[in-house]
Amino acid sequence: MSEIELRTDVAIGVTLPSRDARGRIARLGPVVDAVLANHGYPPLIEKLLAEALTLTALLGSLLKDRQGQMTLQAQTQGGIVDLMVCDFRAGELRGYVRYDRERLADASMKPALKELFGDGYLAITFDQPKVDERYQGIVPLEGKDLGDAAQSYFAQSEQIPSIVRLAAEKRDGHWSAGGLLFQHLPEGEEGRDRIHTRLDHPDWPHVAVLAGSVKAAELTDPELPLDDLIWRLFHEEDEIRTLPAVPLSKGCRCDPDYVRSVIAKFPAEEREAMVGDDGLIRVDCAFCSSSFGIEPAELN
Ligand SMILES: [Zn+2]
Repeated sequence: MSEIELRTDVAIGVTLPSRDARGRIARLGPVVDAVLANHGYPPLIEKLLAEALTLTALLGSLLKDRQGQMTLQAQTQGGIVDLMVCDFRAGELRGYVRYDRERLADASMKPALKELFGDGYLAITFDQPKVDERYQGIVPLEGKDLGDAAQSYFAQSEQIPSIVRLAAEKRDGHWSAGGLLFQHLPEGEEGRDRIHTRLDHPDWPHVAVLAGSVKAAELTDPELPLDDLIWRLFHEEDEIRTLPAVPLSKGCRCDPDYVRSVIAKFPAEEREAMVGDDGLIRVDCAFCSSSFGIEPAELN
């Protein structure tokens, strides 16, 4: 099939041509550990971000444009979490969560989205510079997990019947997360203009049942190759096609030169006010928890 190992840190696309369905399956391991590494989040926030990164990988691998970007942003009101952002570009993932530590301590073991995000919304943005396409959809953060919210995003914003499953668990100190997204694409192949969608298409419930039968343990098991999992779920179908696998890695785009160029644009007196006790201007990247120390003299 592909040269890439289909066990972990990878997303793969699938189509079921006779059912007018397409899907994406992703599994993330070391990439989640790498994104979480510097943050010191409690387990519940780690799990939330692991699932959000998995959803980001699934949605990001729908981009047609290799240089396109997909951003997932939870905007919340009165929740334990007040901000969560993840993005995807060319297989690179990053993300972070801002939350209230004290309120989290009182949270239930398996909080639903409402408890975590309050009256929150999930904004999903696809940016495809090459085809000059930018699209944003917003849905309420409701349901038991982010998979539910993503499902309503597709149903409400795009009128595409979809099923989304996400799972994440920590095994021996390391995260393993997995997810699946299947959609009914009425006009067959990917990429053709959608003219009309019948939400009651007879083939779709069948695909939804098969895709929905996936177990959390199958999604997260790093020993189970994704092509084997696809076969397990759909082997009775007439035809299964796979798309080239997309390797996933942690990638942050904070760059010292860029940070320097932004700071250099501030008026001199404002820059002076930014200088800390160590004589440097400190700039932190929320995504990767890196801190840049900039010499004020470098900016002149
Ligand atoms: Zn960064």
